[in-house]
Amino acid sequence: MNQENENNNQPKKNNPNQEKGNKSSNQGNFKPRYYKNYKNYDNSEDPKIAISVVIPMYNEEESLPELSVLLEKELTELTNGKYEVIFVDDGSTDNSWDVAGKIIDNNRKFRAVKFRKNMGKSDALQVGFNEAKGKIVITMDADLQDDPAEIKNLLAKLKEGYDLVSGWKKVRHDPITKTAPSKFFNFVTSKTSGIKLHDFNCGLKAYKREVVKTIPVYGEMHRYIPALAHMNGFLVTEIPVEHHPRKYGKTKYGFSRFIKGFLDLLTVMFLNRYMKRPMHFFGTLGVIFITVGFGIDFYLLIEWFLNQTYLSNRPLVQFGIALIIVGFQMLSLGFLGEMIVKNQQEHKVIKISDRK
Ligand code: UDP
Ligand code: MG
Repeated sequence: MNQENENNNQPKKNNPNQEKGNKSSNQGNFKPRYYKNYKNYDNSEDPKIAISVVIPMYNEEESLPELSVLLEKELTELTNGKYEVIFVDDGSTDNSWDVAGKIIDNNRKFRAVKFRKNMGKSDALQVGFNEAKGKIVITMDADLQDDPAEIKNLLAKLKEGYDLVSGWKKVRHDPITKTAPSKFFNFVTSKTSGIKLHDFNCGLKAYKREVVKTIPVYGEMHRYIPALAHMNGFLVTEIPVEHHPRKYGKTKYGFSRFIKGFLDLLTVMFLNRYMKRPMHFFGTLGVIFITVGFGIDFYLLIEWFLNQTYLSNRPLVQFGIALIIVGFQMLSLGFLGEMIVKNQQEHKVIKISDRK
């Protein structure tokens, strides 16, 4: 673990009682752990923890107390006290961090980590996944739109043998400006990824530990976790869950989410299909371009030969030449891609499941 304070590799010391009485003005009575990078985590499982709940939060101070009470009740019943709740403060500028601190003071099964600045929900989830010590990992939003009472239903579905159970906000309490585009996205993602879900981006999900330790979440990929899991061979399903209107604060996403979301979808699809064989993608395009370009120019050449007409008034010549050039560039990109992939193969770790 690469942290800046001296608590290296000792996660348990992170909410230390010894810091009581040493209150820094705005950080509650426990020390924040800031991350320089996410690599080299201690990924060991803690047999004393059945469920880890990961909650990304960005300026959600009002809802945290209510959420923690609901969670404490639900999780105590479900796990006999064998749980942990990890708040990942995504650089909040309100009092979320302090509020989390107070919750942790009352219940040491809760803990929190913090980013220096807003990094986005995907990064927050990734850190939560790295931190999670439980056999099962639940994610949920901090804004009370997801209902902790649904956790038991997700768990029941996991028990049927699934690796990831995603919530489906069947009756959604969000404005139409959000629900309509999101319907479209879910449709496209479902078609392109080959996994039939109604709702990819529900904050409430349950995972077997192996899933969160296998799939990297970055950029804004959190929207496609079920697709990524499916592509990695995990069994994914969904169940309808209760969804509440936002009670406090406001949504953190504007319209730009849809453009970014679409670009991320392209990335996911590309990585899925061609990551290991970039030449198949670029090479195919290159060969098509070159063939069409040669075809056009060859035709014009014959015409010129037979009719003795000038080609200077035929813009199609330039088009053919452009296609040939771009085609060769595509081929070069394919070769470059293959070189990168080959290089990576030498350092590759293939993730497998094992049973002991
Ligand atoms: N969130 C976050 N970082 C961000 C944006 C959002 O951690 O940059 C958290 C936010 O606090 C909430 C969850 O992600 O817990 C979902 O965000 P929001 O409720 O704004 O999304 P919506 O429900 O409107 O899709
Ligand atoms: Mg929300």
